[in-house]
Amino acid sequence: ESVGVAIIGLGRYALAQIMPAFAAARGCHIAALVSGNAGKAKRVAAAYGLDEDRIYNYENFGDIASDDRVDAVYIILPTGLHADWAEKAFAAEKHVLCEKPMALSATECERMIAASERAGRKLMIGYRCHFEPYNLRAMELMREKALGDLRLIRTAHQYRTGMATPAENWRLNRALAGGGPLEDYGLYGLQASLYLTGETPESLSAYTLQPKNDPRFQEIFAHASTQLRFPSGAVAQLATSYDSFGMNAVSARGAKGALVMEPATSYSGNAMVLQTYGARETLTPGTSSVQFAQQLSHFAKAVRENAVIRTPGEMGLRDIRLIEAIYKAAASGRTLALNADATLKD
Ligand code: NAD
Repeated sequence: ESVGVAIIGLGRYALAQIMPAFAAARGCHIAALVSGNAGKAKRVAAAYGLDEDRIYNYENFGDIASDDRVDAVYIILPTGLHADWAEKAFAAEKHVLCEKPMALSATECERMIAASERAGRKLMIGYRCHFEPYNLRAMELMREKALGDLRLIRTAHQYRTGMATPAENWRLNRALAGGGPLEDYGLYGLQASLYLTGETPESLSAYTLQPKNDPRFQEIFAHASTQLRFPSGAVAQLATSYDSFGMNAVSARGAKGALVMEPATSYSGNAMVLQTYGARETLTPGTSSVQFAQQLSHFAKAVRENAVIRTPGEMGLRDIRLIEAIYKAAASGRTLALNADATLKD
């Protein structure tokens, strides 16, 4: 039976990427909308052929508990709202797919995981690259040791955000976005370094920059640059920024070769070159844009068959722990040692 999903938050990502992808997804459908804007909700419901009794708002959301047409909730709200809405969805006994970053702190992530366990419902994080053909092929190549032992990973996720204040753009607002580009865009580089090495870092160091005289950066950092060292000896260098010329790239190098992905983690049109001594091959493992439907299909299957989730809450928690450690390392100027679960040593 098809899983009915309620979409919470009708912003840009929901409207332009996620909702259209349901058409190609298997085993799920849009069952309801939750929005604070009644006019927009009506227009969107009409566009998707949904009756108006499938529209909820932030006040009457609790009523969704008795709506059997809704099995799950997809949270596509600003990050600072994820934990509370996940808890409300679990209280209504629904499964939850939650956008990345999972939440603002490890404490919030732990609350979400606990609520999922109490309710006996699934919790998945919207890490779409785990369903994207280029990134999946890259993971496979690393497992096959196509580059030999992995030595260096470099990632760049940066763009220049328009002039705005924290009140005008939630991504610039600490209460809604946390520290800034690292949580939002840099997270793709952090994730890539983890799924390409298949490891959790054992230590890290970092720098941040916050030019407070710029109205955009009153509350958040403009840049973050991080070095991770993995137990195998591999090192990752991650750069992310809201104030530099656009770039979306991941590269991995070992003694035998290099894998260069640019763009690496886009919605569509990713590209990948595998270089070894004497050979240079452009790889085209699939169509990047299938990632949205594949992610939805995976969630639906996990809900229907009570199967394991590839990108569970625990993965989101691990990453938020690492982000907290990165900010701590940057603030202290020290290299910090980590346990295998990404908590800080001593
Ligand atoms: P957006 O600003 O376009 O949409 C946010 C929505 O939340 C809007 O409909 C807004 O009205 C609503 N909202 C409710 N309460 C709000 C409040 N207090 N302040 C501001 N907005 C409020 O943002 P978006 O780009 O759609 O991002 C939404 C979520 O999706 C975020 O968690 C973001 O990180 C995630 N996202 C993920 C990807 C991805 O590739 N996986 C891409 C973009 C966004």
